[in-house]
Amino acid sequence: MSRVIPLHPESGCSDAPVLRERGQREVFCGLTGIVWLHRKIQDAFFLVVGSRTCAHLLQSAAGVMIFAEPRFATAIIDERDLAGIADAQDEIDRVVGQLLSRRPEIKLLFLVGSCPSEVIKLDLAKAAQRLSQRLLLAPGPKVRVLSYSGSGIETTFTQGEDACLAALVPEMPVALLQNATPSLLIVGVLADVVEDQFIRLFAAMGLGPVQFFPPRRAGAMPAVGPATRMLLAQPFLADTARALEARGAQRLEAPFPLGAEGTERWLQAAADAFQVDPLRFEQAVAPARQRARHAVAVQRPRLAGKRIFFFPDSQLELPLARFLSRELGMVLTEVGTPYLHRAHLASELALLPVGTFLSEGQHVDQQLDRCRAQAPDLVVCGLGLANPLEAEGLTTKWAIELVFSPIQGFEQAGDLAELFARPLLRREKLAGAGPATALAA
Ligand code: SF4
Repeated sequence: MSRVIPLHPESGCSDAPVLRERGQREVFCGLTGIVWLHRKIQDAFFLVVGSRTCAHLLQSAAGVMIFAEPRFATAIIDERDLAGIADAQDEIDRVVGQLLSRRPEIKLLFLVGSCPSEVIKLDLAKAAQRLSQRLLLAPGPKVRVLSYSGSGIETTFTQGEDACLAALVPEMPVALLQNATPSLLIVGVLADVVEDQFIRLFAAMGLGPVQFFPPRRAGAMPAVGPATRMLLAQPFLADTARALEARGAQRLEAPFPLGAEGTERWLQAAADAFQVDPLRFEQAVAPARQRARHAVAVQRPRLAGKRIFFFPDSQLELPLARFLSRELGMVLTEVGTPYLHRAHLASELALLPVGTFLSEGQHVDQQLDRCRAQAPDLVVCGLGLANPLEAEGLTTKWAIELVFSPIQGFEQAGDLAELFARPLLRREKLAGAGPATALAA
């Protein structure tokens, strides 16, 4: 029987030094999270209170929706608001009133703060509270209004999800009894297809009850309390986890469910907490794990021995680096991350190869110098750096694509590996095609 090997706290990079940098950063802002959050919570609406820049960012990141009315919009702060001629709180009430009369299906409305709303110190929490009180008491459909910040000041783009979910935690019902049956709460947005696969695996283990946060419907908010055991599905949920812990939930320590190994260890953490019989666990995961290992092995010849450099961007960098080094044999030249949460990433750190160069934060010029000096085969970075680096002859992978794609779980492990193999293949083809064809491509 194949069992997960226990982690040794002294191994890997648990105590490795981390280069901390503070300087110019090249990342998207937290508004980007609306792109996947609005797909997940299907009766929620995200109203950004911001500028035309914010509206353009959202529109280009989310693409144009042809078949459905989008469930996000931007209330533009204009000159009258900036000059204090219009009362911004009255303006928000007016815009929300218009929106809800046109879209009666909305059950949960997020007022999302931006750099401009923060600069003019617009109190969206106050607006949300006032509107919620009014809309929950009014006759007709009830609408809950919440607020959070997606501002790009001092944040990276995945923090938008963290801020949104942290704002949702107070809406979760109380699971009252101290001695209630433990329940498992999976925390973090997962694509529905991935969520369904995990539901089937937990059911095959006989593990339950299992709930997911955020839920697909605002009215299906899971309860939380001292009997809640939470398993983080994403590594960028520091505030959300803190808010859930304050409600009594206990976090289960595990690596993140990326790749065959990460997924197995993540499921194992839940199985251990719920005392699932080892034989039943093995029977439940073995077929999918085998498929995952096979799919990853297909990509290994293209990736093994290749040197990879991570710029800090999505906060997925450590789990991805662990997957690429342990399951695909890639060599880690530098693993940069915007924030290194040592507690949430403890298992990931323990699994990284000894001596991995870790950096936190960014000083983009210094990091670019280190990247050029390393001349890696593949660079994972934000969109702003990708084109210039490609022009210098480096091969890049957009970090944001890894957040937009379903990559968690056994069934996605092969696709995840392929996402890294594809740019190398493209580069090979271009090199083989010669300069004329390369330009045409
Ligand atoms: S929130 Fe700030 S960083 Fe994001 S699009 Fe708006 S102005 Fe730009």
